[in-house]
Amino acid sequence: MMRINVSQLLKAPIGSIRSYKVSEIIDIAGDDSGSMVQGEIKLMRTDRGILAKAALHTEVEVTCSRCLNLFSCPLTLNIEEEYFPTVDVVGGTALPLPDEPSCFTIDEHHILDLTEAIRQYALLAIPMKPLCRANCAGLCPDCGYNLNQGPCSCPPQRGDPRWSKLKELSLTSDKSVNERKGAE
Ligand SMILES: [Zn+2]
Ligand SMILES: [Zn+2]
Repeated sequence: MMRINVSQLLKAPIGSIRSYKVSEIIDIAGDDSGSMVQGEIKLMRTDRGILAKAALHTEVEVTCSRCLNLFSCPLTLNIEEEYFPTVDVVGGTALPLPDEPSCFTIDEHHILDLTEAIRQYALLAIPMKPLCRANCAGLCPDCGYNLNQGPCSCPPQRGDPRWSKLKELSLTSDKSVNERKGAE
């Protein structure tokens, strides 16, 4: 139901609203791996066309930027787009489109198709650096083992300056505690 016939709504007074519950598989990534898209769509008659508001949820397969595993990334889409009729719903004559680049249109059969908007919003919603989990351990830089599955067999990293700084810190604080104890 991402393709909705809006001929009745186009004849309705400005401000009229129709609501739809949707649940449909859409090819978001353009690779035939469909994603289930679910949620609610509200269509409102405006003076120029129809305003579509949709709150949708879907999931797309993406590659984790740390461990390179494929995982399902949940997306929330809050779509708000105005659709312009190309044909007058009563007279059937062609209508001029507004002077806006890449505006969405309602076709000559009065079908409002949300698919392209959903695809565009979904692609924008995918994070630039997706993570399969917030604390993804990534891959071992030496052997490439996925550290989410446990430690690899590489020798532990030595000489990391951050750790030695930390050791110094705890040693000095221990010492000062001892000194204070001794002074009492
Ligand atoms: Zn990961
Ligand atoms: Zn390793």
